[in-house]
Amino acid sequence: MTMEAPKRSTTLRERLQRADPSLTIPASIAVTEMEPGVKVSRVVEGSLAARAGVLPGEKLTHVNGEPVRDTVDFYFHIGGEEELELEIESAAGEARTVVVTKDSPDAQLGLDVEQFTTQHCGCNCVFCFVHQLPDNMRKSLYVKDEDYRLSFMQGSYVTGTTLKDSDLERIARQRLTPLYLSVHAVDEDLRKWLLGLKKARPILEVLKFFKKNRLQMHTQIVLCPEKNDGAQLERTLDTLLQYHPTVQSIAIVPLGMTKWRDGLPPMVPVTKEYARRFIKGLKPRLREIEKKYGEPVAMLADEWFLIAGMAVPRYTQFESIPQLENGVGMVYHFYRDFNAAKKIMPKKLPRPWRVAAITSTLSPPVLKKLVKLCESCEGLKVDVIPVVNELFGESIHVTGLLTGGDLGKAIKHNPFYDQYLLPGNCLRKYDEKFLDDLTLAQLKEQTGKLITPVLGGALDFVDTILETAIGREHHEVKDHPFLVKHWAND
Ligand code: SF4
Repeated sequence: MTMEAPKRSTTLRERLQRADPSLTIPASIAVTEMEPGVKVSRVVEGSLAARAGVLPGEKLTHVNGEPVRDTVDFYFHIGGEEELELEIESAAGEARTVVVTKDSPDAQLGLDVEQFTTQHCGCNCVFCFVHQLPDNMRKSLYVKDEDYRLSFMQGSYVTGTTLKDSDLERIARQRLTPLYLSVHAVDEDLRKWLLGLKKARPILEVLKFFKKNRLQMHTQIVLCPEKNDGAQLERTLDTLLQYHPTVQSIAIVPLGMTKWRDGLPPMVPVTKEYARRFIKGLKPRLREIEKKYGEPVAMLADEWFLIAGMAVPRYTQFESIPQLENGVGMVYHFYRDFNAAKKIMPKKLPRPWRVAAITSTLSPPVLKKLVKLCESCEGLKVDVIPVVNELFGESIHVTGLLTGGDLGKAIKHNPFYDQYLLPGNCLRKYDEKFLDDLTLAQLKEQTGKLITPVLGGALDFVDTILETAIGREHHEVKDHPFLVKHWAND
């Protein structure tokens, strides 16, 4: 079965051109070849930098003679030194040097520099989400970023194909580790086909460099049925495991296809039957790997199990799950504070309270246990309402891709609830915008309903209800991947 892309008015090229060009630098430019100089965005009043006369808007070009090309260089060079010689260029282009002496190597300079422009990838991956977007989404979504600095800072995945030798040397020198690498296959012909490239730096070169320099990486394989599964997957796993512990972990995630695939080759979708067969076929190998290495180095994203209708694994071995951002262990993590949620659940509410937990089509089994807990409270009724992702297509069933428009329709079709809960990861955190640019405030206004996003796990789910229903104080949500996942930084 292949999907025919719906007609749209603009080509991908046009849409990519519409993306703000200032958001990226070309893949052909090595980050390390960039001119030194970062703009000072803020100087804290009374700080060492302020006392040295540094002004916001000026350019910092060197620290102790070392070029500063971006935030990473800045923090690398100011750390661990007590005396800093800052080469500054004024707004009028005049250069001067100021010396700052810190009381201790860790003392704050009181200076922030502007975030760097990210590098784009130059790939045309057969599963690229950017090539599967409809028109009129947020501009930044059309940017195909691939930047090892973001990989280091935020855990975003890179293919490594833009890495120049000088970038690798910088990664080793500045210890930008671990990085997150998309591998997909170690057979170079297949890898290049998956990445949509004619030429790419062989992945083995990157693996060898990381091993030699004692760097680490987390890897992912986007699994495309009949392409990089079977013997190809075996070969990819064998090779990556030879590089353990350089390769710290391997996440296998299922191919996702929206209904807007345009100019991409036809692919075999991951169906329920395929997911079941795939999991059953791979299980013995995964068990063997876990036994040999003492931990599950290779892991399947939860989405596999949800598509297959099978129980999701529990990752009790990990204090923090290394591939949580990739959906590995997300369900397990969601329930980690379930006991705390149980403790705060009252026996009874002073008045009846009906809640609609709106979520993706795959999530109702995940919420079952929580709904049962809520049923133990007299007066509280929670219904789970799965929403078909009409904008991207019904085969897209992750919560992070639910749009304001689809959620709004679901709320209008189910009007009789006191409160509507949404998964927090479908909102960009800093401006509370959905992928289709609708804001949470607009959705509330359009529907006239009480809508609250859930940003954490089970405890936050219960807290969000009780805060609204009975004014109970809300626990602070910390370190949940929903807070940082997907769209927080674009
Ligand atoms: S999926 Fe491939 S083409 Fe798309 S942004 Fe990532 S590396 Fe680039």
